[in-house]
Amino acid sequence: MDLLTRLVDKGLRGESATREEALAVLATSDDDLLAVVTAAGRVRRRWFGNRVKLNYLVNLKSGLCPEDCSYCSQRLGSTAGILKYSWLKPQEAAEAAEAGVAGGAKRVCLVASGRGPTDRDVERVADTIAAIKDRAPDVEICACLGLLSDRQATRLREAGVDAYNHNLNTSEEVYGEICTTHTFADRVRTVRSSHEAGLSACSGLIAGMGETPDDLVDTVLALRELAVDSVPVNFLIPFEGTPLSENWTLTPQHCLRILAMTRFVCPDVEVRLAGGREIHLRTLQPLALHVVNSIFLGDYLTSEGQPGAADLDMIADAGFEVEQAGEPSLPEHRRTRDGGTAADAPAADASSGTAAGSPASARTDLVALRRRGAGTGLPPNA
Ligand code: SF4
Repeated sequence: MDLLTRLVDKGLRGESATREEALAVLATSDDDLLAVVTAAGRVRRRWFGNRVKLNYLVNLKSGLCPEDCSYCSQRLGSTAGILKYSWLKPQEAAEAAEAGVAGGAKRVCLVASGRGPTDRDVERVADTIAAIKDRAPDVEICACLGLLSDRQATRLREAGVDAYNHNLNTSEEVYGEICTTHTFADRVRTVRSSHEAGLSACSGLIAGMGETPDDLVDTVLALRELAVDSVPVNFLIPFEGTPLSENWTLTPQHCLRILAMTRFVCPDVEVRLAGGREIHLRTLQPLALHVVNSIFLGDYLTSEGQPGAADLDMIADAGFEVEQAGEPSLPEHRRTRDGGTAADAPAADASSGTAAGSPASARTDLVALRRRGAGTGLPPNA
């Protein structure tokens, strides 16, 4: 296939696929699926070898959010029966993080629901980081606290945060359809603030919210323009009690095409298989490891993931290795001494288009709300 030969050549040079090429990847047929995965796999191996980076989520504050992001079980008006709790104490968070590190996680992602942190919240997170680093000095810390001011970004950097996650989620064109309480531009501003403060920028997307292929491609192109270091690709978990609970549109094959498209647009960037992988990729999860170089271990913020031991088995069985502490994650040309990216971060932009993946039947039986780990008295899944 000419398209794939061209995309492999470009990817091996670190060049991004064009908008038309990215759309063409999403339009490939199931007959071509293995060829698409093989091509994306060559690019993945060029920049990341056979390493898989493990990341572990700690939900510092769960539920009770005043924002209305339609996909989120923690949103204003959500009736999903999720765990709801206010800030974990630093030692509680450190204990949760330690379980992830013991399971093989190289990065701990500290997440809090809400529009954005107060300065007091930022200090709480600073105390939490100190407690985590006391137990695991080498662990990478990513914070995900919502919209951030420049000053707060700088304070987090000083407190030892390595990366900041703030997803664009979808294209600028349709952002207003999934959220009315903040804008796409607000999100772009936070990605830029974290980047400018010397934090490694982590920003990704959620597929399966009713977006078109053009929206998906525009979102990933916007992330490329923002020069982010890591791109988490989430597949919508249609929580009962949220406006998108009926959106079961993804097929395992289309999920793989979305991951491959992301790899071809962002060849030398950490592409992370994130929420929803178990319920949408199902038995095709190991194929995704040929495209992405990073996954979350264990549970998500408000839902269960597959057992951490099953993740480790899957990685080993598919012929990959868990990335170790001290091993660089990013290719050398994307690294700087302070953990940020070597690339410049120019302006982001995005637009729209047409139809998404084939409809799939609802699999609500596959969504299990989290009842263990952070915020509970039960051991975590790592
Ligand atoms: S995604 Fe974040 S800001 Fe939006 S509703 Fe959920 S917790 Fe709140």
